Amino acid sequence: MSSNFNKVLNILKKFTKNELVSLFNIALDSVNYNEPVEKSDCPYCSSNRVILYGKKRGKQRFLCNDCKHTFTTTTHTIRSMSHQPYDVWEGMIEDTLNGNSLSYSEDRLGISHQVAFNMRHKILLSLQDIERENPFKLQDVTELDETFVLECYKGQRLPSHITRKPRKHGAKALKRGSSNEFICICSGAQRKSNVILKAVNRAKPSSVEVTQVFKGHIADGTLLLTDGLRSYNVLESVADCSIKNITGEKTGFYNLNTVNSLHSFVKDQYKLYRGVATKYINRYCTLFEYAFRSGASDINNLKVALLNQRGHMPYSISNVKSHELTAIA
Ligand SMILES: [Zn+2]
Repeated sequence: MSSNFNKVLNILKKFTKNELVSLFNIALDSVNYNEPVEKSDCPYCSSNRVILYGKKRGKQRFLCNDCKHTFTTTTHTIRSMSHQPYDVWEGMIEDTLNGNSLSYSEDRLGISHQVAFNMRHKILLSLQDIERENPFKLQDVTELDETFVLECYKGQRLPSHITRKPRKHGAKALKRGSSNEFICICSGAQRKSNVILKAVNRAKPSSVEVTQVFKGHIADGTLLLTDGLRSYNVLESVADCSIKNITGEKTGFYNLNTVNSLHSFVKDQYKLYRGVATKYINRYCTLFEYAFRSGASDINNLKVALLNQRGHMPYSISNVKSHELTAIA
């Protein structure tokens, strides 16, 4: 650091707390955030009668002429309450959608592990909000199956009912095959289109769980291909669809190749991340749904959507820690 910097630092020590806060805000206003200014609708009342209204901490401020609230481009978005600049957020979204690990982003963007973790999870919460606002239905030919991933307590103490020793990174299950160390992810993959992934349980899904995952997400007239698990039969009463069990007949048109490649994708990501904490598994399932079906241009559009998405709840650290965690008994 320069000697001027140290001199200023010594002067600052004599300032009061309030003086420091106003100085800090003046300094932020003078920083060019390199941020595109686009007028958006009011996040409080959705009105478009919005005018420019000066700057707040370096960010453009707006005034709503209907409800009289003021807001900035980041109010209620993943960037509200964040000290990270626009380009770091862009980089973190790109890394997330491209399937890069947190440690990769920490090195590339020069941020700490905790900051990277919080940013990643705010992005995942925002992605879940985007999916909620843009629901889709599987249609045409859709393949259904399940895959299993190792239960994971990454970053946490093992709960008292778990008697095994903690696993090392990338370790395998103690028992071979399906055991209660695995979490089941229900999957539906429309050929060349949308997919659904949701963790529900440890064992194969029951009819009730299949209904929970797919109700409202199957279009009328869909042909569902399964490998014979009877729980899927319930879907004929949930949507006007037909089910073909293709046990032992996985050739030609009747195959489960799409859902199998989705499962390989999930397992590769799981390996690259060295596991995903089970309580966050469904946040990551939403990410895998988008990442699996998105090309480069979709990822660019999604990046803009994520930066502008206003949350159904605040994207705060406390919601990162507690919002809609996956509880599997
Ligand atoms: Zn308003």
